[in-house]
Amino acid sequence: MISTSLNTTKSEEIFASAQQLMPGGVSSPVRAFKSVGGQPIVFDRVKGAYIWDVDGNQYIDYVGSWGPAICGHTHPDVIKALHETLEKGTSFGAPCALENVLAEMVIDAVPSIEMVRFVNSGTEACMAVLRLMRAFTGRDKVIKFEGCYHGHADMFLVKAGSGVATLGLPDSPGVPKSTTSNTLTAPYNDLEAVKALFAENPDQISGVILEPVVGNAGFIPPDAGFLEGLRVITQENGALLVCDEVMTGFRIAYGGAQEKFGITPDLTTLGKIIGGGLPVGAYGGRRDIMSMVAPAGPMYQAGTLSGNPLAMTAGIKTLELLQKPGTYEYLDQITKKLADGLLQIAKETGHDACGGQISGMFGLFFTAGPVHNYEDAKKSDLQKFSRFHRGMLERGIYLAPSQFEAGFTSLAHTEEDIDKTLAAAREVMSSL
Ligand code: PMP
Repeated sequence: MISTSLNTTKSEEIFASAQQLMPGGVSSPVRAFKSVGGQPIVFDRVKGAYIWDVDGNQYIDYVGSWGPAICGHTHPDVIKALHETLEKGTSFGAPCALENVLAEMVIDAVPSIEMVRFVNSGTEACMAVLRLMRAFTGRDKVIKFEGCYHGHADMFLVKAGSGVATLGLPDSPGVPKSTTSNTLTAPYNDLEAVKALFAENPDQISGVILEPVVGNAGFIPPDAGFLEGLRVITQENGALLVCDEVMTGFRIAYGGAQEKFGITPDLTTLGKIIGGGLPVGAYGGRRDIMSMVAPAGPMYQAGTLSGNPLAMTAGIKTLELLQKPGTYEYLDQITKKLADGLLQIAKETGHDACGGQISGMFGLFFTAGPVHNYEDAKKSDLQKFSRFHRGMLERGIYLAPSQFEAGFTSLAHTEEDIDKTLAAAREVMSSL
């Protein structure tokens, strides 16, 4: 039972049979609610800022399909465009003019991206970018940060965040040691650790990949000078800087975290928002590097459904909507109200907490903080988070079911939704 006040009979029935059919009853781990100790909700439909479960309960949604739903779910313009594209077919497996449109929009939005390749997920984008980093530099090692998640490819399942953090797996069985021996890790926001890795592995490191604002260990912003420092260190060592903007792209700002913080990576990965809720990913960057990708160059990477017209259409419409003036100001305004409100309520009700937001991305840790890296994030009171999560769910607020995930708002969230959320948080935190 999830709670006494929420009727979740159908969710429970459906999840019980799902467990017989699919490992853990889900298609992706965090959805199983394991880290909040509950039974997952099975959903039926979404609209705007809201999500309804199969028992008819309505929630204000701060997950937004883990980021893509930045314009609000099922925006009428996106749905209309999808219908029109659908009539012409779902996949050609061949060039389609819509790819040019989205590619141009991405290239215009993100100055460091001169060429782009579309794939089907963030994982695929990160796998490909890693191969490209090695192909271009002729070096096999890569530096990633503890708690940063770059999809589930073998090389990245070392001190990864997201579901790996949630499940407490340091890495995964089935990942050969020989593969991860080339993955070097450093604490986030620690330039000295990065410098030391370069000193210990001269001319062997292809580059540094990072979430420019972390969302997969909870919400952790970069310290002042961290991103700039990485740019300098990579350049000094003939290595590449790669921003994984699968989550932050078109969310932190239209041009992503790199626009917000004024840094120029060599390569960038994207996903989520650029697919407008359909499966998509992309990687792009300097023309000389991207020219190595097949068939322009020798680095092989391919995909049956890559660049399919439906995903391209949803992405194009979503980016068009985001271009409207005031988008990021509005996201910042409502999300600041939410994040500040949650912290204030935690303080008034006597809980250690810290957190923050940038644009429509936010987080709250149940620890006094400050949180600069994954080790700090792990000091959070996870039991308390679980109780908070459940209490909010019972009051019609759907938060990410893990302390180690960022939250997302959308253009469809209203001031009233935020007020309701804060009122619920006050009730729940008063009784934690
Ligand atoms: N990189 C980052 C920063 C992500 O947040 C995610 C997914 N949450 C991924 C990569 C993997 O993307 P996907 O789930 O689409 O494979």
